[in-house]
Amino acid sequence: MKFSNLNIQTQREAPNNARTEGFAFLVRAGYLTRENVPTKLGEHTLAHLRNLASDPAFLLHLSLPVINNEAETFLPIQSGSIEVAHCPACKYTERLELAHFVKTPSPPEDELPLEKVLTPDCHTIEALADFLGVPKEKTAKALMYTRLDDNGFIFVIVRGDMQLSEAKLKQHVGETRPATTEEIERSGAAAGYASPIGLKNTLIVVDDLIPQSQNLVAGANETGYHLRNTNYGRDYSAEIVADLVQARAGDACINCGNPLSALSSLHLAAGKEYHFENILLALAETHHDTKGLTLPHSAAPFDVYLMQVPGKEMDTRAKAEEIYNTLQTAGISVLFDDREERAGVKFNDADLIGCPLRVTVGEKGLKGGMVELKPRQVKENQLVQIQKVVEEINSILK
Ligand SMILES: [Zn+2]
Repeated sequence: MKFSNLNIQTQREAPNNARTEGFAFLVRAGYLTRENVPTKLGEHTLAHLRNLASDPAFLLHLSLPVINNEAETFLPIQSGSIEVAHCPACKYTERLELAHFVKTPSPPEDELPLEKVLTPDCHTIEALADFLGVPKEKTAKALMYTRLDDNGFIFVIVRGDMQLSEAKLKQHVGETRPATTEEIERSGAAAGYASPIGLKNTLIVVDDLIPQSQNLVAGANETGYHLRNTNYGRDYSAEIVADLVQARAGDACINCGNPLSALSSLHLAAGKEYHFENILLALAETHHDTKGLTLPHSAAPFDVYLMQVPGKEMDTRAKAEEIYNTLQTAGISVLFDDREERAGVKFNDADLIGCPLRVTVGEKGLKGGMVELKPRQVKENQLVQIQKVVEEINSILK
């Protein structure tokens, strides 16, 4: 491919809308527009990645520090939009909203008799716990939903110090929406003072910590009142007992007990369904230096960036064309910078675009039958005899 075929436009400055260095370099190197649309070079690179994806182990060959489970693959990155729980010790990886963790039950207690107490203006767990002088983990948090497919009323209980994960709830009951006050009242519950005790036509769903938690404060289903000492099994029971609460950073890994990290991540793949644009961004985020991209050989759209420095006496361009054809015939993919630009501009663009190798055809070298060869991440270039250039390139790329 020639520079002019791809109409590559590089930029000297990072776009001012760049949230990450990787995105900034993809725009500066001419892979993406600043509106995040792939250019011809970007499309060519995405096509190359799609082509590689016929290999089931393709993601593993891209030198990306991914985290994954059987279903999904992520790249942790600050600007990522998905929170992922990850255990650095055993590599357990799961979307944070679905991650399981080890829960610590409160010490077991004898079940005490129910006691109705006046709790004015206690509309939140915090206010209730403060008013009664109990820790939040001694309260039952009530959440009420209506199932979309059958309008069934669903009453959920988690321990008062924990948050419900709606994603986990959905796995057990399907799609829901918050119940209306009318629906809550129809079940026999009182909004703000609700418990599952004595409700009609209600699907009760509790977090698996609730059956192990004795003497919780819960609503009395009467405005202004709560009940002390509600106990699962004695006072109510549930159709579904499951892990329903949201994991947080520092919670204990379900497999090994070590603390989980919560990592902002980019979603790269679900099974064999790849997000190629995210993979390109992931490559740019993890493979760049101060001058531009440093793409790994497997992912780079071209093996070689070929350029010529205009000569005073010799036609370096004709010689570069010849080398271009030789390399391509040898199965080496080449981006030929065929522009009439100063050498400095081309060197900068070669660094920006980030092909693994740069081959420079200049008058001084040609006089001795040589060209310059420079791996992207090596400072010094080496002179190589033109007859040996294919062999040399292949040995470096191997
Ligand atoms: Zn673990």
